[in-house]
Amino acid sequence: MTTQLPVLPAARDTRGRALHDLRISVTDRCNFRCVYCMPRAVFGPDHAFLPRAELLTFEEIARLTAAFARLGVEKVRLTGGEPLVRRELPELVRMLAGVPGVRDLTLTTNGVLLPRYAADLKAAGLHRVTVSLDADDDDTFGRMNDSRAPVSAVLEGIRAAEEAGLGPVKINMVVKRGWNEHAILSMARRFRGTGRVLRYIEYMDVGHTNGWRLDDVVSAEEILETVGAAFPLEPVPPAYSGEVATRYRYADGAGEIGVIASVSKPFCGDCTRARVSADGQLYTCLFATSGHDLRALVRGGVGHDELDAALNSIWAARDDRYSEIRTAETAQLPKVEMSYIGG
Ligand code: SF4
Repeated sequence: MTTQLPVLPAARDTRGRALHDLRISVTDRCNFRCVYCMPRAVFGPDHAFLPRAELLTFEEIARLTAAFARLGVEKVRLTGGEPLVRRELPELVRMLAGVPGVRDLTLTTNGVLLPRYAADLKAAGLHRVTVSLDADDDDTFGRMNDSRAPVSAVLEGIRAAEEAGLGPVKINMVVKRGWNEHAILSMARRFRGTGRVLRYIEYMDVGHTNGWRLDDVVSAEEILETVGAAFPLEPVPPAYSGEVATRYRYADGAGEIGVIASVSKPFCGDCTRARVSADGQLYTCLFATSGHDLRALVRGGVGHDELDAALNSIWAARDDRYSEIRTAETAQLPKVEMSYIGG
């Protein structure tokens, strides 16, 4: 009989932000090589990925998730790399679906493995998925993800997710100038009227290997102008504090889009997200340069109270607001790679 441990008062950081969202990277591996996340020049055949022994086990991930839930986490998102390349992932979903306090269990994926796993993930307790798709023509898509996967494979994944009951699927499109901004409108055309919400993401200086330059950022304003010129838009109020995407609906009722504007419209003020890497490092910001070793804690035999106290003190000391202070200099900092902690 598992002991029901008390839910503690919600942890708050130095800016009064509650701990509400936990993003767990279950692997640093991926079957794509997206230019803004895992450029092949860096993540090539000789790249040393994390050995299996260094990865958190499913039991360790479940234990940490339960501790975060005691501190107020309600939303858990599984990420990677590509989470579906981690073997037996539905088993982890089953374990997390039973964690007290977790109300929203989601996953971000590039979608091509969804036809194989969607039904099992749903049966295990997953609520919904977000699929990354950076263009809807094979040439542009291929340039962005540097793999041979066709757009049709991702669309098939989206269909499989919805057939399994994991929809409506949200679609994430990272826009990089000179690479795929010409696909902004065709993507809007493809998904409007389908119930799927397309979110445009400003290209970010995550990690330190994607060669980020401010000139390559297509701003939220430009994206909205491009879409709005063809399909008039109206702003939609946020569903909850800390919502990442700014939402807009099509004036003609054909659904919604979102924009995630970390560069031009930072949203650090109500950022409630913690991230744990596949080898158990806790990062309190996507653009952090260092983490806190939770794996050593759980493998060191720490008790529940000590673990909760450790997480609480890390969060209580948090003052991250990278996007508000971003400069050309900060962009060069040795920040943690997105493929290591997920978006
Ligand atoms: S930059 Fe860091 S603090 Fe700001 S919203 Fe992103 S993760 Fe949160």
